[in-house]
Parts: sequence; C-alpha cells; structure tokens
Amino acid sequence: MENKDEDVRDMMPEEDDKAEFGKRAKVVFKKKVCKFCAQNLQIDYKNPDSLRRFVTERGKILPRRITGTCAKHQRALTLEVKRARVLALLPFVKK
Ligand SMILES: [Zn+2]
Repeated sequence: MENKDEDVRDMMPEEDDKAEFGKRAKVVFKKKVCKFCAQNLQIDYKNPDSLRRFVTERGKILPRRITGTCAKHQRALTLEVKRARVLALLPFVKK
C-alpha cells in the first residue's frame, strides 16, 4: 500500500508544477511605477486631493504593493497623510 502511494507521487509530472507557477507569476506580476518618481509629484499635506488617491474609501493608507509607490515616497506619503489627518484635511476613519 505504501509503495503504491509513492508510485503515484512519482507519476505526477514535475513540469506541470513549474508551468503552473509560471502562470501564477505572470498573472500577479504587473509593473507599477512610483507616481511620485515618474511624474515628479510633490507629496504635500496641504493638497489632500493628491493624497486621496493613496488612501482607501475608509481612510486607510494603501500599501505600497497596491499603489506601486517606492519605499522612499511611501514613507513621505504616510507622513503627509498623517499630517493631513491631524489638520482634518483627510479622515482618520470614514464610515
Ligand atoms: Zn518614488
């Protein structure tokens, strides 16, 4: 019985696994450019409309993996969003 199980595993084609992995990577991978680097945009708490694109409807800051912002600008962005929140230009939470 145990031997049979092993045989089944050996018969599993390895190439299928690789192909599947390749497909998954293709679907997930989408090149995103940091909007601040690309357009030389300034991140400014006084301009909440520009920050609003990087915040969810509920007011949460979107993660880098979704917006594609680079680490440097994401750091600056969170700072500016938090400043804007204190000044009531952006919401902390929105229901
Ligand atoms: Zn950047």
